[in-house]
Amino acid sequence: MDQIKDAIESGGTGDDLAGLAIPDTYRAAHTLRSEQEMFADMASADKDPRTSLHVGQVATPELAPDEVVVAVMASAINYNTVWTSVFEPLSTFFFLDRFAREGHWESRHRQDFHVVGSDASGVVVRVGNAVRNWKPGDRVVIAPVVTHDQDPDAHEDQMLAANQRAWGFETNFGGLADLTTVRASQLLRKPTHLSWEEAAVNLLCAGTSYRMLVGAHGARMKQGDIVLVWGGTGGIGGYAVQMVLNGGGIPVAVVSSPERAEVLRELGCELVIDRKAEDYRFWSDEHTQDESEWRRFGKRIRSLAGSDPDIVFEHPGRETMGASVFAAKRGGTVVTCAATSGYSLEYDNRHLWMKLKRIIGSHGANMAENAETIRLLDRGAIQPLLTETFALDNVGEAARTVQQNRSDGKVGILCLASSEGQGIEDPEKRERIGEDRITSWSRSFAATKEAVND
Ligand code: NAP
Repeated sequence: MDQIKDAIESGGTGDDLAGLAIPDTYRAAHTLRSEQEMFADMASADKDPRTSLHVGQVATPELAPDEVVVAVMASAINYNTVWTSVFEPLSTFFFLDRFAREGHWESRHRQDFHVVGSDASGVVVRVGNAVRNWKPGDRVVIAPVVTHDQDPDAHEDQMLAANQRAWGFETNFGGLADLTTVRASQLLRKPTHLSWEEAAVNLLCAGTSYRMLVGAHGARMKQGDIVLVWGGTGGIGGYAVQMVLNGGGIPVAVVSSPERAEVLRELGCELVIDRKAEDYRFWSDEHTQDESEWRRFGKRIRSLAGSDPDIVFEHPGRETMGASVFAAKRGGTVVTCAATSGYSLEYDNRHLWMKLKRIIGSHGANMAENAETIRLLDRGAIQPLLTETFALDNVGEAARTVQQNRSDGKVGILCLASSEGQGIEDPEKRERIGEDRITSWSRSFAATKEAVND
């Protein structure tokens, strides 16, 4: 592995990389099948990824003809790694076993370890003999969508294919590792002005936000739309806010601290609701929602934005869905991709049908949507949400900060990259787009944290 890392860092050619041996084992963050019951009967908050995520050697899988091996320079924590590491809502070994039943190559994914991670940037070091568009030496980012092109539904929209899976969550050999083996159809070119970790943190969240808001399958935001964004400084919320601003919409972002509100204002999102300070209690007890709180929330949005939101960008789930459906304007759209606070949702259907609202379920993004998303990053129209970077050996700690909602934006992980700031191929382009713009999120959060600590 050292030879591969040295060759990449010293600017070795594709031929150099193709000539190096792929090791039989590699360092990877993984959970263990033997530990999938370790948190049984514990409260979710007590299930600690630091005890279930291990970093150690795992066996390199055989390469399928349509796959590539990528030397991973950096990766990211996504919330799905938190789900895997706490074995909720079910153990992801169930997903690996299900995937393994699909065929010979898929059977490699049934292992007693699960290598996690659904984002990465790196360098192609091997290609299978059916790979056409990629070669050793190519610098890439990896999208989380795994689908077979032999499923006709995948040609209408990859996300509709029955065998669509999330890489490193529903499949094995994920990105939080020094190597990964992925389908060639998951690759996109790395934006040349970004460092490895800046390039690695985007695609899963940014692609999801793109599909939810902009793509033909989502809410199809238009100029002037008012968009309520839950978790405006979180992974998907931070990209959503940027996309709304970039597309001529008006974001109303919800966050849970004055620091997060301040950062959003600095970044151009003027309308912000601090849900903690305003103390919304949408549930009066475990079984009952309080419509007067929905009304108070709706009134607050109107007081800021002048009218009800055309679109609600929903993902907290049980705690907020009732309020989201209520708050959307007549004929408006609630688009949802998750349920962090609980997936059994309740809303008052009268508010939906009488006011002709729509709910759209959305998941990930197809490769066309991912390519559009990377194009926005590549042109500097949206920026990486990277705010913090950990070494792969500290992946458990990194996942814990995301689980506890202590992280802002995206948390990057250095895999083969020895330090932050490496991998920038086009410094002139970086200068053109502007260091200040590219690092705006990390600098704003760092400055706000400093001010709070003073
Ligand atoms: P994240 O970085 O942890 O951010 C989530 C944000 O949501 C937090 O910053 C928090 O903001 C807010 N939040 C959390 N609990 C809340 C609650 N009970 N009520 C209101 N707001 C709450 O996570 P993420 O990466 O954005 O992901 C969010 C969810 O989407 C996760 O469940 C993830 O698994 C899911 N997801 C799904 C897909 C997909 O394709 N289906 C893709 C990406 C993510 P404040 O505390 O500041 O309000």
